[in-house]
Amino acid sequence: MFELAPYAVSSANTRGRQLADPPPLHRSEFQRDRDRIVHSTAFRRLEYKTQVFVNHEGDLFRTRLTHSLEVAQIARGIARALRLNEDLAEAISLAHDLGHTPFGHAGQEALNECMRDHGGFEHNLQSLRTVDLLEERYAAFDGLNLCFETREGIVKHCSLENARQLGALGERFLDRTRPSLEAQICNLADEIAYNNHDVDDGLRAGLIKLEQLEELDLFARHVGDVRRAYPRLGGRRLIHETIRRMINTQVCDLIDSTAGNIARLLPRDIAEVRLGPALVTFSEESFEAQRQMKRFLRTQLYQHYQVLRMASKAQRIVSDLFAAFTSNSRLLPPQYQAAGDGDQVRRVADYIAGMTDRYAIKEHRRLFTVSES
Ligand code: MG
Repeated sequence: MFELAPYAVSSANTRGRQLADPPPLHRSEFQRDRDRIVHSTAFRRLEYKTQVFVNHEGDLFRTRLTHSLEVAQIARGIARALRLNEDLAEAISLAHDLGHTPFGHAGQEALNECMRDHGGFEHNLQSLRTVDLLEERYAAFDGLNLCFETREGIVKHCSLENARQLGALGERFLDRTRPSLEAQICNLADEIAYNNHDVDDGLRAGLIKLEQLEELDLFARHVGDVRRAYPRLGGRRLIHETIRRMINTQVCDLIDSTAGNIARLLPRDIAEVRLGPALVTFSEESFEAQRQMKRFLRTQLYQHYQVLRMASKAQRIVSDLFAAFTSNSRLLPPQYQAAGDGDQVRRVADYIAGMTDRYAIKEHRRLFTVSES
């Protein structure tokens, strides 16, 4: 059988679940976490939530669901190559965006602004809240009762103030130690996935042009290689062939560079991983190439006037919903009305964060358009 490296997370060395669950019979603890995530309601909602483009803008754009699957594919490949826990990498990847609001970053910023005087809104923490508390699937506990390492991987970053409230999970932000290598992999797999698919989706939407991308070192190198090898190739296939080569280059670079770091520092176990420096890294050259790509996407795609118009509509929808529900909590579906002295404002944020793009649009219409019911 495939043997995990001594510094991998495993069912044997996990810090376990918040509530003791009998060990699974034919699965590892992290297969079970992955399975619980796939069966959750929040996971199915990812299909109708977006990152950059809103769901109804086109059927071929990435959604949070396809994004999460791409992250899982990349993270699993890297984890296996390094003899790390592939199931854990998959579980973290599939759960990492569960707490995202509708309408991507625009929605998150709007909800964070609305929540400013109520502890803020942070999608990583909301993902944790979803798997710890909000999912209602099990008789014996709220949430999914996932293993420590899966939960740790979901909280990619967090403010010191929030970290203090997270108990054991927040410690690493306070004492500046590291999460597992599997969690470190998922962070960078996320970046590889969205940088590349945003290039693809941006081209598909016609918001960025091939000629602009040729100013990027990584893209120029690969599109040049493809053109030399296939001089007659054009259109979508030229783009896809180029992007698949970019992903492969970044993944291989990450594996090689991380394997080098591990060989140099030789962590004996997960405890030494936590105390050491970040071991999952790109080479300097690849890191620079990613930075260039991110800068390009920020200025040319995320700030494109058509994207900003949609973002501004999305922000309005989120803040209108928030204002309506906080001024009169009886407008909320009963299950979101906090009982007793419960935190009603946080329940409003939970409700809005759980909405898909189209549900938010519909709910906005129901509340603000007289002819809708
Ligand atoms: Mg992501």
